[in-house]
Amino acid sequence: MPEPLTTGELLALDRQHVWHPYGPMPGRQDPLVVESAAGVRLRLAEPVEGHTELIDGMASWWSAVHGYNHPVLNEAARAQLDRMSHVMFGGLTHEPAVRLAARLVEITPEPLQHVFLADSGSVSVEVAVKMCRQYWRSVGRPAKQRLLTWRGGYHGDTWQPMSVCDPEGGMHHLWSGTLPRQIFADAPPSGFDAEPDEAYARHLRELIARHADELAAVIVEPVVQGAGGMRFHSPDCLRVLREACDEHDVLLVLDEIATGFGRTGTLFAAEHAGISPDVMCLGKALTGGYLTMAATLCTSRVADGISRGEVPVLAHGPTFMANPLAAAVSLASVDLLLSHDWQGEVKRIEAGLREGLAPAGELPAVRDVRVLGAIGVVQLDHEADMAAATRAAAREGVWVRPFRDLLYTMPPYITGDEDLARIGAAVCAAAAAG
Ligand SMILES: *Cc1c(COP(=O)(O)O)cnc(C)c1O
Repeated sequence: MPEPLTTGELLALDRQHVWHPYGPMPGRQDPLVVESAAGVRLRLAEPVEGHTELIDGMASWWSAVHGYNHPVLNEAARAQLDRMSHVMFGGLTHEPAVRLAARLVEITPEPLQHVFLADSGSVSVEVAVKMCRQYWRSVGRPAKQRLLTWRGGYHGDTWQPMSVCDPEGGMHHLWSGTLPRQIFADAPPSGFDAEPDEAYARHLRELIARHADELAAVIVEPVVQGAGGMRFHSPDCLRVLREACDEHDVLLVLDEIATGFGRTGTLFAAEHAGISPDVMCLGKALTGGYLTMAATLCTSRVADGISRGEVPVLAHGPTFMANPLAAAVSLASVDLLLSHDWQGEVKRIEAGLREGLAPAGELPAVRDVRVLGAIGVVQLDHEADMAAATRAAAREGVWVRPFRDLLYTMPPYITGDEDLARIGAAVCAAAAAG
């Protein structure tokens, strides 16, 4: 083993050589150095604001639903490690992948029958788009190649996903000319409990009808738009999309990478609307936050269509497709989730966040406070001061990281009531400071 780096050395090398998400090079703000994590706590190399442990209010971006260092997931990883961590998936198969795929088919809406296991959420969206385009080509309607989405969305950072991210938040102006040009509807009206909006429904229907001949698919995040702005909408909007897609022969892709596995209060957000997509993307919490893996599920109609085409195969096959280690942990994570009352836990967190975030509503610079399932959002009337907000939260012993005008939290489902109260207090403090 090499000598461990001092924190100073580590940060100097980090700043000089290592890209961070949406970061400049060299880095301008020192990240916190995490040495280990267990339960809902991140253990830091050096204290910040007097704390060497921070309660993780972010669940590592939606993914660590069971918390860190979970004995069941550790054991699944260890057992698989002793068999093999990876083997190519071309011409070979293995139990973790097969069992995981079968489990996903079992727990997702019934028409979804076939699973493509990819190595990140963005890639699963690429695969979804490729499936839809190839489907229409294969069934003799090659003009149907474009995508429609609504504004305010986020689907990942590779090119096809980027083309359906919110045009402003996704900085489309940087890429004009190179980014595929998709069709954008207005953002869905805000509020999970919003009354059905007839004018908005008409807008969606008209846009889909008008572009039906060139549309391969509509792609949206159901119920919660995550990294595009943490906005909630009525499940009614999804029913409108489903109907219009059926009427005009357009496929519907639901990106459940953030919303899947219970986060919004149902196992999948599509269940709020009682609809089923033609293609569904899963990721983030799929592995319980342990490893990178994502899945694209599709119906038999889509799979059969592709298989009848001139090129009767789905032309995609990443090197680490169906990675056994990630698949074994995913299977353990899904089974762990289903083995206890996750719905009760998410309800408990929802109630805790409602109570804990309510005081933020009294702050003059707060525009909105919203909670759905295990997701809490405080929206400011200005861009948050990242450094001041994270520092204020750290003072309360909590890790949260704002983006744009948003302070938000989606804690691990195992977060206890006391820790939840601290997360609430920390988000309020961050809102006041940022
Ligand atoms: C995070 C996210 C993605 C991208 O997933 P990566 O694993 O980061 O590539 C796509 N869609 C949604 C809704 C997401 O939240």
